[in-house]
Amino acid sequence: KARRSETTAVEFFHTSMHAQAVRTLQIEADLRWALAHGGLAVHYQPIVHLADARTRSFEALVRWPHPNHGLLSPAEFIPLAETLDLIHDLGMVVLRTVCEDVRDWQRHFAPAAVPRVSVNLSARQLARPRLAHELLEAIDRAGIERPAIRFEVTESLLAHPEGPARQTLHALRTAGIEIMIDDFGTGHSTLSYLHTIPCDQIKLDGSFVRSLTEDSRLLAIVRHSIELSHDLGMKVVAEGIESEAQRDILRELGCDYGQGYLFSRPQDRARTFLRLQQEFGEIPA
Ligand code: C2E
Ligand code: MG
Ligand code: MG
Ligand code: MG
Repeated sequence: KARRSETTAVEFFHTSMHAQAVRTLQIEADLRWALAHGGLAVHYQPIVHLADARTRSFEALVRWPHPNHGLLSPAEFIPLAETLDLIHDLGMVVLRTVCEDVRDWQRHFAPAAVPRVSVNLSARQLARPRLAHELLEAIDRAGIERPAIRFEVTESLLAHPEGPARQTLHALRTAGIEIMIDDFGTGHSTLSYLHTIPCDQIKLDGSFVRSLTEDSRLLAIVRHSIELSHDLGMKVVAEGIESEAQRDILRELGCDYGQGYLFSRPQDRARTFLRLQQEFGEIPA
C-alpha cells in the first residue's frame, strides 16, 4: 500500500514538473510574441514637486497585459526577459512607446508644458558598447527633443569606473539627456564614489522612505544624503511615499521631488493624458 502511494507521488511529481516546463515554454513564447506585436504597455507614474504636489515629470513603468494571467508587473517578467536575452529588445520597445506618447502629448499641449519622462535601463543593456547611439537614434527618429527623455540606472552597475556603462552615461549627458541614479542607497559604497558618477538626480530608495518616521538614525542618513546631493549639484527624488507624514518629513529635510502612491499610482496612457489635461491643458470657458 505504502509502495503504491509512493509511486503515485513520483508520477505526480513528474506530471507537475512537465506541466511547469510547458507553462514556462508557453510564457516564453508569449513574451516573444508580445515584444514583436506591441503586446506590452507602458504606465506612467508622476514625480511631483514636494512643495505643491504638481507633476514635475513621469517615470515610465512597463506592464504586460497577458491574455490569461492578467496585468503582469515587471517583477514577474523582467527576470525572464533577462534570462532569454530579450531585455534590450524590451527596453527599446518601452523607449519607442514613450517617445510616441510624448510626441502625442506635445501635439496636444504646449511642448514646454509636457513633463519629461524617465525610462529605466537594465544593467544588461548598459553593457552594450553602442547603447548610447541606439537610444539617441530611437529618440531622434520619433522627432522629439532629446531632453524630453531621461534615463534611470541603478548605482550598482556604476561601481566599475571605466566600464561601458559610464561611457554611455557620458555620451547621453553630452547629448543633453539627464541621468537619474535609481534605488539610491541600496548599493554598497554609494557615498564614496557618488562624485564620480555622471548623473543629474538621485532617487532615494523606497526602503529608506518606509522607515523614515520610526528610525532617527535613518533620518540622519537621509538628511545627509540630501545635503550631499545638493552640494554636488544634484536634485533628489524620494520614491515610495505613501503617507503624509513621510512627505512632510522629506519636505522638511529639503528633498526636492516625490513619487509614490500618496500622489498617484502608475497609470495607463489614457489616464495620464487626462492628468496632463487637468494640470497643463486649456481650461474650457
Ligand atoms: P523602480 O524603477 O524603482 O520603480 C519604482 C517601483 O516602485 C515601481 O514598481 C512602482 O510602481 C513602485 N512604487 C511607486 N510608488 C510606490 C509606493 O508608494 N509604494 C510602493 N510599495 N511601491 C511604489 P514596478 O512598476 O512594479 O516596477 C518594479 C521595477 O521594475 C522598477 O523599479 C524597475 O527596476 C523595473 N522596471 C520597470 N519598468 C522597466 C522597464 O521598462 N525597463 C527595465 N529595465 N526595468 C523596468
Ligand atoms: Mg526607476
Ligand atoms: Mg526606483
Ligand atoms: Mg526600486
